[in-house]
Amino acid sequence: MKVFKFGGASVNSVERIQNLARIMQEKQEGKTMVIISAMGKTTNALEKVAEAFYTGKKEEALGLFEQVKQQHLGIAKYLLVTHYLACEAQLRDFFTEVEWLLHDEPVRGFDYYYDQVVCSGELFSTAIISAYLNEAGIRNQWMDVRDIFRTDDDFRDADIDWDFTRQKVKEIVVPALQEYNIVLTQGFIGATDENESTTLGREGSDYSAAVFANMLDAESLTIWKDVESVMNADPKQFPDAVPLPVLNYNEVIEMAYYGAQVIHPKTIKPLQNKGIPLYVKCFLDPSLPGTVIHDKPLPLLPPVIVLKEKQALVEFSSRDFSFIGEQHVGQLYHLFEQLHIKPNLTQNGAISFLCVIDDKPEKIEKLASAAALFLDVQVKKGLSVLTVRHYNREIVEQLSGGRTVLLRQQTAETVQILLG
Ligand code: ASP
Ligand code: MG
Repeated sequence: MKVFKFGGASVNSVERIQNLARIMQEKQEGKTMVIISAMGKTTNALEKVAEAFYTGKKEEALGLFEQVKQQHLGIAKYLLVTHYLACEAQLRDFFTEVEWLLHDEPVRGFDYYYDQVVCSGELFSTAIISAYLNEAGIRNQWMDVRDIFRTDDDFRDADIDWDFTRQKVKEIVVPALQEYNIVLTQGFIGATDENESTTLGREGSDYSAAVFANMLDAESLTIWKDVESVMNADPKQFPDAVPLPVLNYNEVIEMAYYGAQVIHPKTIKPLQNKGIPLYVKCFLDPSLPGTVIHDKPLPLLPPVIVLKEKQALVEFSSRDFSFIGEQHVGQLYHLFEQLHIKPNLTQNGAISFLCVIDDKPEKIEKLASAAALFLDVQVKKGLSVLTVRHYNREIVEQLSGGRTVLLRQQTAETVQILLG
C-alpha cells in the first residue's frame, strides 16, 4: 500500500480539489492512505480566531470563524450534489464544536484553545474532499485521525504516543484498508487521552503522513506539492535553480536543518527507519518526474543553496574581559531553549559568543534583556545567512559578491557565510 499527502495549496479551491480527484483517478492503484491538510490559508485564519477569542474579543472571533465556515460551505455546495446534505451535517457538527468553545471564557492556556480551534481546518477540508471523491465514484472511507493519533498534551507541539497509535492503526486503519481502496484522513492533528484535540506543529501534516507510512509499512509516501520537484535553491530567490531528481534522507535532513523549505524535517526519520522512499510530485503536472528521496548513495549533487534573510547577529561579551566559558555558553543555551530560539549560526571566541538568529524583535528583546544580567549584548540586524552544500569557490564568490562577509564557517561539505 501507499501513502499520499496533499498539502493546503493543493486543495485551496474548487479547481484544485477537482484536480486532486483527477490525480486519484490516474495515479492511485491498489490501497492508498490519503492525508490532507487544511485548505489554503485556513490554518492562518483559524489562528486569528483563536487569538481574538483568547484576547477577549468574542464577537470578532465568532465573526472570523463565520467567514471560515462560509468559505467551506460555499466550496461544499459547489462541489457536491447527492452528498451535499450529509457533508453539510458533518461540517455543522464540527462548527458547533468550535462555536460552543468560543462562547465560553478562556480559563486555560492559549495553546490549548489554539489547538481546539485550529484542528478544525483539517476536519473541514477532509470532510468535503472525502464526500466529493465518493460522489465522483472514487470510493473512500473518511476517518477522524483524533481516534488514531494519540499524543501528549503539549499543545501546539504535541508528540505522538507511538505504541498506542500503532495499536489504533492496526485496529482501525488496517481493517478499513481491507474494505476500501482509499482511506482518507487529516494530517497535523491528534488527540490526548482525554480526547482534547492537539496539533503537531505548523506544517506538520508531512510528518503525519510519514508516521502513517511507517506504521502501515507502506511501499512509498508521495507528497503532492505545487513545485515541479525539490530544487537546489528557492527559485523565488534564484531563478537559475535546478531540479534535484534524486536525494537521500541524509541530504534532505541537512537541507532542512539549514533552512531549506523542502520537507518538514521531522518527516524523514519515520521513513528512514523503515527505508520507505519519499516521492515529491507536482500536483499541477503529475507527469513530471519530481524527486525521489531514499537511502541509496547519491550521484554528484550540484551546489545546494539556502539563503536566509532577515537575520540578526547577537554578540554576547563579558564585561570584564574574562573568557566566555562553558558556564556562560551553557546559560545562553538554556535561554535559547526557554525562548524557543534556534540559532542559525554560532561562534565562540575568547571574550565573546556570536549567534545569528531569525530577526523576531520580541524574542530578541527577551533574549537580550535576560542575557544582559550576566553579559554585554549587542544586536546587529538586516543580515543574511548563506549556506552552500557541495560548494566550490566560484559559486561562493558569485553568491557573496558585493556584500560584506561578517562571519564564515566551513566543513568539507558545507560553507555558511553571514552577509552584511
Ligand atoms: N494546515 C497546517 C499548516 O498550515 C498543517 C499542514 O498543512 O502541514 O501548518
Ligand atoms: Mg501546509
